[in-house]
Amino acid sequence: MTLAPNVFRDVVSQPEAVTELLRELNKETAVHHAWLFTGPPGSGRSELATAFAAALVCPEGGCGKCNACQMVRVGNHPDVQVLNTERVQISIDEVSEFIEKSMQMPALANYRIMIVEDADRMAERTSNLLLKSLEEPPKGTIWMLCAPSEADLLPTIRSRVRRIQLKVPSVEAVAQLLVEKYDVPQGLAFQSASQAQSHVGMARRLATNATARDRRRQALLAVLNIRDIPSAIAASNSLIELGVSDGAALTAELDEQERNELMARLGVSAESKLNPSSRSQLKKLEEAQKRRATRSKRDGWDRILVDLMGLYRDVLSVQLGSGEALINVDLVAEITSLANDISQAQAIHAIEEIQKVRTRLDRNVRESYLFDALTISLRRKSTR
Ligand SMILES: [Zn+2]
Repeated sequence: MTLAPNVFRDVVSQPEAVTELLRELNKETAVHHAWLFTGPPGSGRSELATAFAAALVCPEGGCGKCNACQMVRVGNHPDVQVLNTERVQISIDEVSEFIEKSMQMPALANYRIMIVEDADRMAERTSNLLLKSLEEPPKGTIWMLCAPSEADLLPTIRSRVRRIQLKVPSVEAVAQLLVEKYDVPQGLAFQSASQAQSHVGMARRLATNATARDRRRQALLAVLNIRDIPSAIAASNSLIELGVSDGAALTAELDEQERNELMARLGVSAESKLNPSSRSQLKKLEEAQKRRATRSKRDGWDRILVDLMGLYRDVLSVQLGSGEALINVDLVAEITSLANDISQAQAIHAIEEIQKVRTRLDRNVRESYLFDALTISLRRKSTR
């Protein structure tokens, strides 16, 4: 087998998917024009699509080092267009504007790659608009859709794309990556990979950022300490604040990282040295970052809610004696105590209530109302 190009090295534990893409890259005939990458959040579906895109536009087939590869990585390659939305649904206008771009000739490479990050967030009418372009794209245009599962797309779309299915990497595989690539000590690597439930990006952040780790722990402890109405309200306030500060911190971390990458690629150290074309690239990045900032609070709260669901899943595992590995390996005593205090039905109910809050936050219901109601419902009742 041919050695995998560098751009695929960061894709964790997806040997089948990578092998299939390599087969496509190495065949004699033209590359297929429409792809669907499916997998749960954090499995790396858009990273894999991006790596595939880099392999297609890089003169060396995905060296990971050249200008083309770096441009793809920072989202600045003119022939690799990405549609990502901060809205609940991708609008029909966004899609039709995107389709228009797919008609243009590639500027630098032989291909024009169109990546749609949350292809499941399209209404039927929008999907149908896209369908026409998927059927007969201009020569050289390649579509890559990403979605949690195939079932999230219309059958008409599914029948026109080649499917690449990603698996959730194991906790061990994610821990291994943290040790090898980021020099994280073994114990911390395993703890972070467990806590992040194998979400690679989140695991890396928990392993390498003590403040993020501490915020996560504080959120779980706030809920574990709920006994009565006053402590429930106090926990609600803590969760809201922790979500806001974590969202802001993560946004700032990403902003800085992307900016540094862009400046390094442009080969300048200070903004004053930018020429007009570079300046416009920086401006484009700043605009994308501003759009992301508008959803940072909601993303922060959602991360906390996912962690809380993990907490109650652990409680349920202990209650059932399933012997399943816990997510929160650092809170075994606290989880066992909660498992003794509430019934299985209460643990299941807690998971359902948390899920409901996630959905309602997405619909812009006021957060204090949602978190107050949630934490009050999470009080330990003595009935078993
Ligand atoms: Zn390259």
